[in-house]
Amino acid sequence: MRFLPVFLDLQAGPVLLIGAGDLARAKLRLLAAAGARVRWYATDGHHDVSGLEPADAARVELAKGDPFSADLTGVIAILCAGAGDLGPTMSARAKALGLPVNVMDDLAHSTFIFPAIVDRGDVVVAVGTGGASPVVARRVRERIEAVLPARIGDLAGFVGRWRKPIHGRIGEFPLRRRFWERVVDGPIGALVLAGRADEAEAALKDIADPSAFAGAQDGGRAEGRVTLVGAGPGDPDLLTIKALRALQDADVVFYDELVSPEVLDRARRDASRVPVGRRIGKPGIGQNAINRLMIVAARSGQRAVRLKGGDPFVFGRGGEEVEALRNAGIAYSIIPGITAGLGAAAQFEVPLTFRHEALRITFLTAHKARDAETVDWSTLTDEKMTVVVYMGMTAAPSVRAGLLAAGRSPRTPVGVFARVTRPDAQAAVGTLDRLPDLIEQIDGGPAILIIGDVVAHSAPWRHQDLNQVMSELLDAAE
Ligand code: SAH
Repeated sequence: MRFLPVFLDLQAGPVLLIGAGDLARAKLRLLAAAGARVRWYATDGHHDVSGLEPADAARVELAKGDPFSADLTGVIAILCAGAGDLGPTMSARAKALGLPVNVMDDLAHSTFIFPAIVDRGDVVVAVGTGGASPVVARRVRERIEAVLPARIGDLAGFVGRWRKPIHGRIGEFPLRRRFWERVVDGPIGALVLAGRADEAEAALKDIADPSAFAGAQDGGRAEGRVTLVGAGPGDPDLLTIKALRALQDADVVFYDELVSPEVLDRARRDASRVPVGRRIGKPGIGQNAINRLMIVAARSGQRAVRLKGGDPFVFGRGGEEVEALRNAGIAYSIIPGITAGLGAAAQFEVPLTFRHEALRITFLTAHKARDAETVDWSTLTDEKMTVVVYMGMTAAPSVRAGLLAAGRSPRTPVGVFARVTRPDAQAAVGTLDRLPDLIEQIDGGPAILIIGDVVAHSAPWRHQDLNQVMSELLDAAE
């Protein structure tokens, strides 16, 4: 991020606008309509504010003289449109004074840029692309426009008016936040969004005990809880809407080593982030310690999220955690995630079932050769069964040996899919007899194995076939 979005207080002073033509006029309209005082140097001498609302036009001061020597005292930002050395010169002056400056269509001389704006009264959304593509910014803006309720600005205004009085009645910050969440997400918020502000006002006035309304326990403390959240295999866009909401509401996030930084980034900015998984070269803090941490957090009134790679209930020890929470009497809920096997299947086009060809799926784990030895491979020889192996990188030779000894064909297609749905995802496909070679081709985990005829439908398999045909053709041509 090169440009940090911040909001400029237009009450603080005038904005200096230098330039003429359509670009300058468009900015004049934007600034004036936003309520800015604009000091405008029309470089073509043609001061025309007839297109503005009279009230907006009244705030435009038509400046005369040489803009190069304009008095910058009290000015809050400078905007330049125009060719020649106007932009660079004003930019240099502004920078010397530490004033924000924008030279239109000239990123090099700008210290701020204009975002695409969604304007709903008190709710303003700014969308930027670092100056790279205003068109992309506008597309993003359109999407946001489409999902925001029309009266979202009214809702913000409503809360704004009541903030102070409620602040006086609920001392504790987490409880206060919960109070507003219940208002915004509940019937009162719905009334405002439906345009029934008077009824909303009355309903809020009727709340006799704001702390109780916010869900306080005895003693005025907020009620804590734990949400087990499936983080998916890495791509943050694969989070469910519920997962995103839980992350946005969290006071504290306990996360595993498998959780990608991009997913963690979606947590509320102020939430504490606590790594509880194994780190490189270091063991994790252990399951008992994790359980204790969650219980302590919830008992102190926090909303804890236990963020786990993939799905919490697929080789994630989520069951044990839920049991510990239940025994401790802590309120909890579980939000599923996309498990790594499904992420790999979608990304690399492995249909885990296929009519007549693959009728069953087995998810198994073979962490160490030792685990692989305890697997009853004879139950996995059905040709119409797809086998998905978690944590199977190290034990791959034993997986191969077990399946072959039990009688599964050495020609069975297999795939090793690493870091799936992440930017550096990787796949290696081949046949079961070559499984350890495939593991060699992978530049590091986490990786999942998929074994079964369906792998022959996958994208990497098809490309491999194509490459083979091409090289055979090339060989033949030589
Ligand atoms: N609960 C997780 C699994 C945890 S076990 C889930 O549902 O996905 C850890 C194993 O999951 C890893 O050893 C690997 O086999 C697999 N895994 C997790 N994330 C992965 C990813 N992004 N790509 C490939 N495999 C992954």
